[in-house]
Formats: sequence, structure tokens, C-alpha cells
Amino acid sequence: MGSTILLTGAAGYIGSHTAVALAQAGYDLAIVDNCSNSSPIAVERCRELTGADIPFYQADVADKAALMEIFHQVKPAAVMHFSGYKAVGESVAQPLKYYRNNLDTTLSLLECMVQEGVGAFIFSSSATVYGANATVPYRESDPVGGCTNPYGWTKLMIEQIAQDTAAANPNMSVVLLRYFNPVGAHESGRIGENPAGIPNNLMPYITQVAVGKLDHLNIFGNDYDTPDGTGVRDYIHVVDLAQGHVAALKYAIEHTGAEVFNLGTGRGVSVLELVNAFQTVNGVSVPYEFAPRRAGDLASVWADPAKAREILGWTAEKTVEDMVADSWRWQKNNPDGYV
Ligand code: UDP
Repeated sequence: MGSTILLTGAAGYIGSHTAVALAQAGYDLAIVDNCSNSSPIAVERCRELTGADIPFYQADVADKAALMEIFHQVKPAAVMHFSGYKAVGESVAQPLKYYRNNLDTTLSLLECMVQEGVGAFIFSSSATVYGANATVPYRESDPVGGCTNPYGWTKLMIEQIAQDTAAANPNMSVVLLRYFNPVGAHESGRIGENPAGIPNNLMPYITQVAVGKLDHLNIFGNDYDTPDGTGVRDYIHVVDLAQGHVAALKYAIEHTGAEVFNLGTGRGVSVLELVNAFQTVNGVSVPYEFAPRRAGDLASVWADPAKAREILGWTAEKTVEDMVADSWRWQKNNPDGYV
């Protein structure tokens, strides 16, 4: 086994930022991505930002034969699994597409790992695995399940599959990272979130309104039981999230078994607070209107990040001001994404 970290889906938003953080921390990397919802230009820019020679394999992670060939070339010491479909609404309309892709990719990856004796697996899970009845702040020991959409179920199913695989393979180390709401971009403005079509998530919607691509923001609900009536979330800067992966990798290399960590700030921020911070910090206007609640949304979601702090020695450091400034720099500098 070599010392390279293999990243799936690292042409995407979180993977690309993690690639930069890992390369800057001195790790050798290789990336596999089929670019079905991402661009090879992102990998090019990761190389440009880090000066690292990052081999890139444009292949489908679900294609086990192709993946095994990549394993033979890369000889990874650890795998970080970012690839997967992620649009909540689309997962409701096309559940089989989500189950097929998200589960097939993971099964191929874990089969290759077990076959080749690769020990460490780090997975992009989500706060959405906590059931709708969980109460804030969410702790790793809280009940999971009762997901409101197939996307969430795929995350929970993959957690289970990975935990079972670790239990059956005592040399394996599985780290499941439950992301809260990733926003922001690398401070260079060279990599960032690049959604296909009209964004589903709040921050890319705000930036596209600010840049004039969309007319106004619809704020889904202003009658929640929150301080200003709009939904409250734990927005985490993607560069902090990337550093969380570096800490998780160190942990995974030194341990065996399976562990779950929340990656959040522990702070709740409302939609209106985020919109107001965006306008104030960036000096741009984001017209908005109040609209009915969105199906499946909860009033308030935020993490208890104590476990990651205590065990991984990681905490989120960036402010809401950093988040809105960096998101805007990325959008302004790349109005049409990676072109
Ligand atoms: N939201 C909104 N308008 C939008 C998109 C999102 O008001 O166009 C709100 C949504 O209701 C939630 C918050 O912004 O309170 C974060 O939503 P997002 O889809 O980004 O992430 P989620 O927390 O649903 O995973």
C-alpha cells in the first residue's frame, strides 16, 4: 500500500476544497470523478492553488472494474468518498436514480477497499440522517432515521453499510462525517459551489440573485418558531469543513472501527440573518419575498460539535462574514461557474 489518499467526487464542491486542504497538509492525492455534476476545471484549479501534481481519473465509481484498475495504479492508503447525487427534491421525484447511484458507488468502493486491504474510509454523510423528531443541538448519539427524502435515506444506508463493513473487517477504520450546511468558498475565489441549473440551496441562490442571474430570493416560511420566524441552520464554511476532513483522516489512519462526527459550528443562523449579512458585508442587494414553507423543512437545525472538538481536535473557525464574503467572491469572479 502506498501513501496516496484517493478522493471520489473531488471535482465537486466539498471534495475540491478538501483536496486543496489535504495537498497543503502534505498528502499525496488522486481523484476519481465522472464529472456527471462537476467539472474537470475544478481539479485543474486545485492543482493551480496547491502546485501539487494530482492525478485525475475521469471514471464512474460504480464501475467496479474501472475502479479496481484505479486502485491498482494509485494503491491508496485511504479513501474519501464525496461522490453522490445530492438534490433533495430530485431524489423524491427519482428515488431509484438516487438509490442506484449512491449505493452502487459506495458498494464498489468498499468492495475494492476490502479486496485490496485499504484500511481507512471517510464518508460525506449529512445532518439529514437525524430524524425529524431530533432536538437541537444534534448529537451523534441522537436517534437517526425517519428521513424525509430518498437522498437522506441513501446517506443513512451508506452509514450502515460502512459500519457493517468495519465490523467485519477489523483492520478497517470508518469515519462518518455528518455535514451541516456547507457554504462559502476558497478565499482565492478560484473554486466554489457550482450547482447545475437553478440552485436548491440557500447560499448559491442568494449569490445568483446578487449577481443578477435570478430575480429574487424566495424565503420559505417566516412563521417558524424561531427568533425572526425564518428557518435556522448551522452554516459551516467549506474550508473549515475541509480541515475537518484532514483531522478525520489523521484519526482514521491511527484507529480502527467506526466513528461518527458532526461537522458544524454549533451556531444557528436564520435565513434573514444570512441574507442581511450578505448584503451588509458585500454591499450588494438581495431582493427577497416571503413564500410558503418548503415541504420537509424543519424550523431549526444545528450541531453539537463537541465530539469532533474533543476527539479530532477540530473546530470551525470562520465567521458568517467570511462565509458571505467568500461565497460572493467566488460567484462574482465566476458568474458562469467553471468555464
Ligand atoms: N431556503 C429559502 N429559500 C431558498 C432555499 C432555501 O428560504 O431558495 C431556506 C430553507 O427553507 C432552509 C434554509 O434556507 O431554512 C437552508 O436550506 P438549504 O436548502 O440550503 O439546506 P437544508 O437545510 O434544507 O439542507
